[in-house]
Amino acid sequence: MVYIKSDRVEEQIKQVITKLRLTILQKALFSRCVECNQILENISKQKVEGKVPPYAFKTVEQFKKCPDCKKIYWVGTHWNNVKKFAVRVGVLSRS
Ligand SMILES: [Zn+2]
Repeated sequence: MVYIKSDRVEEQIKQVITKLRLTILQKALFSRCVECNQILENISKQKVEGKVPPYAFKTVEQFKKCPDCKKIYWVGTHWNNVKKFAVRVGVLSRS
């Protein structure tokens, strides 16, 4: 059991990783659906037309889809913000 000491999410994540001695697999980050934890699958650009915002469809080439809840993911602003957060809490190396 881990008693969370901080009110700040970043500190909480750092504490859990340290206390439980978790090993973070870099290649596993961003590989699962945030809604249902299924492993994301590649999906062709043609199949996401009309299902993602027009700007994303126009500017992004690679998309992933959750086989369970059908949520579609792509590397965009939100993804990049999540990556920056992961670097800040120490679960992703800067690259
Ligand atoms: Zn899902």
